[in-house]
Formats: sequence, structure tokens, C-alpha cells
Amino acid sequence: MMKTHPDRSTINGRHLDDDEPRSLDNADEDALDTPRTGKEGSCNIARLEEIIHETLTIIGEDPEREGLLRTPHRVAKAYEFLTQGYAMDIEKVLNNAIFEERYDEMVVVKDIDFFSMCEHHMLPFFGKAHIAYIPNGKIVGLSKLPRIVDVFARRLQVQERMTQQIAETIQKYLQPQGVAVVTEASHMCMMMRGVEKQNSSTTTSSMLGVFKHQVETRSEFMNIIGSKLH
Ligand SMILES: [Zn+2]
Repeated sequence: MMKTHPDRSTINGRHLDDDEPRSLDNADEDALDTPRTGKEGSCNIARLEEIIHETLTIIGEDPEREGLLRTPHRVAKAYEFLTQGYAMDIEKVLNNAIFEERYDEMVVVKDIDFFSMCEHHMLPFFGKAHIAYIPNGKIVGLSKLPRIVDVFARRLQVQERMTQQIAETIQKYLQPQGVAVVTEASHMCMMMRGVEKQNSSTTTSSMLGVFKHQVETRSEFMNIIGSKLH
């Protein structure tokens, strides 16, 4: 028997037991009276705005034309949001959500949406993450798995490292019999520029413990998530 939660994360998990303030989600980007206080959240917004203002000039734009007047502020706030993973504390994310439990079958959460930015071009890559683990006395609240993905996705990344960091974090805090993480992503840096391979997607995986050593366990997971990698 296995316990599968297809898309649970995005249907009803995301906000179920979030205990961290998500003020950045509600940032009122367009409020005209937003004061430039300098340091907000983890970014120095005022400094970032100056740099983006200058960037607009360098690429041949007029930052004073009407449509661009608020753009430096919006872009700065967007960067703050998209890189908020740097300021997230994994222990706070997992706060009170690890439970002693004798359940020892595979737990799978698949189709977790993620949005990240490649560290080479600072362009988005995005897709789905699929996570499985086999507990060894401890389980984690299911909505925490997408939160762990966010911690590592919301920063500059390479997909390979992000996948590995998610797996290693689950390994570290749950000490399960094994962890498997597969991510599938489209990279805007490939789609919009350079080779322009618009339909290619990149899959990376990280297998630890029984998922690394037992072919059957790994295959079972791959079958559940419908991956062609075996
Ligand atoms: Zn790139």
C-alpha cells in the first residue's frame, strides 16, 4: 500500500497550516504612496530601484516616460519576492510539523508547482517537483513539502542543485529510510534566447537512501509520478 497525494500541495495544502507571515504575497506593489524606506524585507529596495532605473537607461529606454515611472519600484519588489528564499529559515518553515508516526510506506506528493530563477541569466525556470520519502519514525505535515521547495526555488538557482537541496533537507530533518525528488522545468533562458529550444524541458533527480539503493523502490516512485526516467 502506498499513500499518494496528487497535487495535494497546490489544491489544499499551500495555505492550510502556514504559520509564517506571508506579507510579501500581499505586497501592494502599485500603491502610489508606498514610502521608499530603504530596507524592506531582505532587500534594500531603494538601492535596487536606483539600479533598475539606471538599467532602463542603459538598455535604451526612457525611465521617465509614464509607463516606466513605477517600474523600478515594481521590479525591485518582484526581485524581493522572487528571492525571498534567502531569508527563509527552514527550521521555522518546519516549525511543529514533524510528528512521530509508525507509518512506514511511501509518501508521495507530486506536481508541486515551483518558480525559480537561473543563476546564469537571472531568468525564470519553472515547473513541477515530485517528492517521495519512506518514513523511519517521523513524518512531516504534507503542506510543508511545497514550502521546502519554495525555500530553495525562491533564490538564484541551478535546477540540479535545487533538487539536491530539497532532498537533503528532507533527509536531514526527517531521517527517513529514503528520499526521492524529481523536478521537471522549462528554462526561459533556453526558450527566449540562445538556442531557443522552446519545447524542451529539463528533468533532474536526487535519490537518497532506499531510493538510491533499491531499484524497485525507485521504479515504484517513478511509476507513480509518471516519469520516463527509470
Ligand atoms: Zn540560464
